[in-house]
Amino acid sequence: MTIEVVQIPCLNDNYGYLIHEPGSGLTATIDTPEVAPINAALEQRGWRLTHIFNTHHHFDHAGGNEALKEQWGCTVVGADNDAARIPGIDQRVVDGDRFAFGDVEVTVFEVPGHTSGHIAFYLASQAMVFVGDTLFALGCGRLFEGSPQQMWSSLQKLMALPDETVVYCAHEYTQANAAFALSVEPDNPDLQKRSQQIDQLRAKGEPTVPTSIGLERATNPFVRPSSSGLRAQIGLESASDVEVFAETRRRKDNF
Ligand code: ZN
Ligand code: FE
Repeated sequence: MTIEVVQIPCLNDNYGYLIHEPGSGLTATIDTPEVAPINAALEQRGWRLTHIFNTHHHFDHAGGNEALKEQWGCTVVGADNDAARIPGIDQRVVDGDRFAFGDVEVTVFEVPGHTSGHIAFYLASQAMVFVGDTLFALGCGRLFEGSPQQMWSSLQKLMALPDETVVYCAHEYTQANAAFALSVEPDNPDLQKRSQQIDQLRAKGEPTVPTSIGLERATNPFVRPSSSGLRAQIGLESASDVEVFAETRRRKDNF
C-alpha cells in the first residue's frame, strides 16, 4: 500500500500535509496550520478528513484543530504528555507507540526540545517521517521548552532512521538556514552545492522541503557535531557532541 502525500503551503512559511491511504480511504492532516487551504486540498481530491496527527501544540500546528474536528468529526492524535495543550485530543500516544492507519503502521517518537511534548510520526513502510518543528532542512527547531541535551537526543533518534527516509518539515526556512550553515561549516562541499540548489529553487518560488535523512546527515550543522570542520570553525575541537550542538544552536539564535 502506498500513501499519497499532499504538501500544503499555509500561513507565511508553514507546510501542512495530507496523507491518504487509498485502501481504507483514511486521510490525516499532519498538524492544522490553516483550515481553508487544508479543506481546499481535501475537496480537490474528494477526500474526507478522518484524522489529525499533531506534532505539537503551537498555534501554527494545532490552531485549526477545533474547526476541522467540528467540521469532519475526525480523530485527533497527539502526545499524551501534552494532552492539555492539544485542542480536541482523542487518542493519546507515547514514545514507541505503533498504530494502524489503514494498512500502514505509524510509529510515534517523542522528540522534546522545541516544546516539551513534541512528537514525530514515522511511517517505516513508506520511508517517511513527519517531524514538525524538530528537524528542518539545514536547521532544527528553537529550544523553547527543552535543554540542548534533550534536543540533541531527539535529533539523534531521527538521525538513526535510514538515509533514504523522506523528512517532511513544517516550515520553509531552508534558505536562511543555509546562510547560517555556511557560516559554521564553510568548507563542506556538499553544503556549498546544496546551498546553490536552494537558491535556484527559491528563485523560482519552489519548495526546498521535503528533505531526507541522508541529505541532512551530509549538510545540516545541527546533526554534524562530529564534523572537524564545524568544530574548528566554532572553536570547540575537543568538546562533547552535545556541547558542539548547544553552541551551534546558540550561534543560530544570534545569527
Ligand atoms: Zn512550533
Ligand atoms: Fe511552527
